[in-house]
Amino acid sequence: MCGIVGYVGSKQACPILLEGLSKLEYRGYDSAVVAVLDGEKINVQKARGRLSVLSNMVDGGKSVNGVMGIGHTRWATHGEPSDVNSHPHVSSSGRFAVVHNGIIENYIPLKKRLMEKGFQFVSETDTEVVAHLFEYYYKGDLLEAMTKVIHRVEGSYALGVLCSDYPDSFVAVRKASPMIVGVGRGENFIASDVTAILAHTRNVYYLEDDEIVMLSASGVKIYNTDREEIKKEIFRVNWDVSAAEKGGYEHFMMKEIEEQPKALRDTISPRIKDGKIVLDDISLTSEYISSLKKIYIVACGSAYHVGVVGKYVIERMCRISVEVEVASEFRYHDPLIGKGDLVIVISQSGETADTLAALKEAKARGAHVLSIVNVVGSSIANASDSVLYTWAGPEIAVATTKAYSTQLAVIYLIAIYMADKLGRLENDEYSRLIEELNTLPDKVSKILENKSEIQFLASKFFSSKSIFFIGRNLDYAVSLEGSLKLKEISYIHSEAYAAGELKHGTISLIEDGTLVVALATGDKLYEKTISNVKEVKARGAVVMGVTTTHHEHAEDVCDYVVRIPDADELVLPSLSVIPLQLFGYYVASLKGCDIDKPRNLAKSVTVE
Ligand code: GLU
Repeated sequence: MCGIVGYVGSKQACPILLEGLSKLEYRGYDSAVVAVLDGEKINVQKARGRLSVLSNMVDGGKSVNGVMGIGHTRWATHGEPSDVNSHPHVSSSGRFAVVHNGIIENYIPLKKRLMEKGFQFVSETDTEVVAHLFEYYYKGDLLEAMTKVIHRVEGSYALGVLCSDYPDSFVAVRKASPMIVGVGRGENFIASDVTAILAHTRNVYYLEDDEIVMLSASGVKIYNTDREEIKKEIFRVNWDVSAAEKGGYEHFMMKEIEEQPKALRDTISPRIKDGKIVLDDISLTSEYISSLKKIYIVACGSAYHVGVVGKYVIERMCRISVEVEVASEFRYHDPLIGKGDLVIVISQSGETADTLAALKEAKARGAHVLSIVNVVGSSIANASDSVLYTWAGPEIAVATTKAYSTQLAVIYLIAIYMADKLGRLENDEYSRLIEELNTLPDKVSKILENKSEIQFLASKFFSSKSIFFIGRNLDYAVSLEGSLKLKEISYIHSEAYAAGELKHGTISLIEDGTLVVALATGDKLYEKTISNVKEVKARGAVVMGVTTTHHEHAEDVCDYVVRIPDADELVLPSLSVIPLQLFGYYVASLKGCDIDKPRNLAKSVTVE
């Protein structure tokens, strides 16, 4: 949430900041700002709403002079989206300008104390205390002021701070909110995400909590909270610049849907060598796996839905009990985990605040934490005992597609790997499952070839008031994701239900013409779900069935049938989710919604 970019070099800063912010707008779009230091004064330009408004206001950056500055796109947590609440927050003397991502949890007592000392507040934000604290602590040394400020504030923060006494350098810090440092030639950057600086440099530092960075055109210095300089390793990012561009697509979401075959291949292929799954990145021995009584999967949103699939798949293949939990609940309910237990956490950005906190809770109780993460060097990756990266590349659309798919792929890899270590797979069964994984990308491509069929169905139902998704077991897990995809981008009310549960209450909402999307993909529960389809049809529902090629008679009961290729039941979620992603996309598109930036949402949820 919230995008921060900072630049210092010899070029005009404003166009660079705007371009960087355009790559981060998916993180927040309540307001956009730039603050540029022209050698003497900090020039602040703010616009409520989208970045394009700001860009027009400053003529693409040409009207703001200066070679050093910071920019911010906001996802409001404290105070409505408005000019006065938008960042940067400037201290009363005008000496400091601060952009912030995160939440200052103790801002109320701090604000009270500062007000008692005569500081005047103009905004409702938590961030404004930081600007005044800088003013309060500053005695001519910016680094010293920064260390004092971060000793006082609690919560999560990535901060970029300009000080008019420092015309050639600025400072930044992070704790529990993402920030990377880009190292260029004669120019240096900060950003919430590498995509913002890829056009300029691929050399980055990943900052740890409370590492302070001082940037000038000639160099980057990193300090700990005792103001001692520390040396860090530079990482080279191998993401393709075009991966963060729309490349001719109308929306990132469609581009990312189309990228799924490649993302799946990139995630699966390097981990299969000579017909065997090789997970060099994790160190789970056969003895350890055999000793496991329970596994927890902890995540939020779509990653949680991956966990629900993971429960079915791991339990079936490994016969180990799996509990899936939403991270914001897990962290507070005194979970029953201890030394030796395995906790799998899943997060695209690797910065999801609740998931990170759950991870810390699990580690504090002695559990082994294995994370599934898309961003190398992210907080969750760094804090885990072992990491399996999804090689999805940057995901920009707020509604996840390719990250979800690659997370599923990693879950399959873990399940097959563990089942093998437990001696639960005969050789031919093992090879057959590997073959199932290897053929997934082509099967996904095949579904994508029939996009127009889904577009047609979307055109029939885009004015629905309410849409239900039903399925059993794995189909239920995918229904959860299909329903979320639809509601988050099209704003149509939608619920996912375990097909057999509907009649225990929710079926009363079905009326003439209500669309029910019924997933009936696996063989075992096909007939059971079809019975539930008949129940809703008897009450007036229109049913769109999603099933596999060999279920030839689905048309006899469903009004519309979407077919996916046959595959082993355990990997079918990777296929059945594709038409649901497309359905959500086309419905939202027909409704004229802002698909990549749905209202009230932002990607990378770095606040609780
Ligand atoms: N808490 C701050 C605010 O509401 C920062 C939010 C953000 O991360 O964009 O302004």
